[in-house]
Amino acid sequence: MKDTNEIPAGASAESETPAANHGGPALSRRQVLLVGATGAAALATGAAAQERAPAAPAVATGTVAGMPFRAFVRYGAQGSVADLRLRDMKPTQVLVRTRASCGCYTVTTSVLGNAPQRTPTIPNHSGMGIVEAVGAQVRRVQVGDRVLVSGTPWCGQCHQCLTGTPEWCNYLAPGGVPNDAIAEMADGTGVVESAVIGGLSEIIVAYEEYCVPIFSDLPDEQIAMLGDTGAVGIAATSVYDPVQIGQNVVIFGAGPIGLAAVQGARAQAAGKIIVVEPVRYRRERALEFGATTVLDPNEDTDTLVERIREMCAPRTDRLDAGGQVAGRGFISMRGADLVVEASGFDRYPPAVEVGPDPTGLLALRQAWEVTAPGGSLVTLAVQRGDIAFPGSAFCLSGKRIYGGQMAGMNVMRDTARFITAMENGAVDIGALVTATHPLEEVREAFQSVADRTELGVVITFPGA
Ligand SMILES: [Zn+2]
Ligand SMILES: [Zn+2]
Repeated sequence: MKDTNEIPAGASAESETPAANHGGPALSRRQVLLVGATGAAALATGAAAQERAPAAPAVATGTVAGMPFRAFVRYGAQGSVADLRLRDMKPTQVLVRTRASCGCYTVTTSVLGNAPQRTPTIPNHSGMGIVEAVGAQVRRVQVGDRVLVSGTPWCGQCHQCLTGTPEWCNYLAPGGVPNDAIAEMADGTGVVESAVIGGLSEIIVAYEEYCVPIFSDLPDEQIAMLGDTGAVGIAATSVYDPVQIGQNVVIFGAGPIGLAAVQGARAQAAGKIIVVEPVRYRRERALEFGATTVLDPNEDTDTLVERIREMCAPRTDRLDAGGQVAGRGFISMRGADLVVEASGFDRYPPAVEVGPDPTGLLALRQAWEVTAPGGSLVTLAVQRGDIAFPGSAFCLSGKRIYGGQMAGMNVMRDTARFITAMENGAVDIGALVTATHPLEEVREAFQSVADRTELGVVITFPGA
């Protein structure tokens, strides 16, 4: 950018902690963290600091203020594309020129609903594009980088990142980071981004911790799917308890998440891959992507669990030869090694076949029931209502249950390996993208998501 008054990272007026001030320039907190106290003293001497400072180009905060752009904004009882002007960025934020943003079913009400929205908000919670400016303290991405703004951040330093639950990085937690207005409308009213990301916008202003630099030539819409549904499906089979060769996997729901999970299971040479899905075209796609059995939950609903358990039985019932009994009472010995629950619930009546329970709770219960003792259940759907399980079985059955926010992804670690799997053909996320729409067609795009007539739906910005 011409008017950004470029300055080296960490040498700006925003430096937070002049930790080694011996007459040289003050060092930022990040510089001190990078080189340690001894190095900090050495670096605080002009030229050396310039040479060894973090490499990310930086712009002074405020120089991007006033930039015009368009976004889909929910305000009052409806949403529409609006002309906005950017406000000042924070020194820890990144300005991304959006190229693609994948639609998520959980966002349908934000786009299509009419519940009053008091603060103008840009919906959605992921996107990808090109870095156009970075705050003075940003190091992870540089101007010109291709970048995914993931639905889940990773800071690497908070309690959750350090203790094995990076999918709950505290930058995601309510109150983790301020969600201040990034732009304003023509009358000066501030506009915020949903989940501090938004996505249905020509511009995303994101905290550095949400940004994953992308070193790949894969198409924009495929990278966009890694910010949400596509990545979640692959992760479900490869992060918490990765599928081992020949293990049996059951997947409830064959939307974009469930079908990506089918691909992930196939890529890891699962044994049986059993998919439960009421919508015929989705069952057919599941078979194309590697499902070995597809089941309609509307058919013989009462026996679904028993049928799946029997499908997962070992080859013999001889206990001295690796066999298994069926079990009795509240403990069934039979079930799948890994179960992925991705059926969701109906925020809107589907325009396709309807499952036996629009709340999704039946599918969740069945998913738990078909998980073998010692097996793992990853729950990904956002259900409607409270759940109840039989106490004894819940407490004693030996099932590992993972509440799968982003399916447990460490987005900085896992995004790169998913891209490798996409590039070598092990998974085909591109085949999950069945519709792309420009910003002007956000409503049509999310209507198709609500109707479940499409799989991966991506908003694209062709001119960006
Ligand atoms: Zn989502
Ligand atoms: Zn963190």
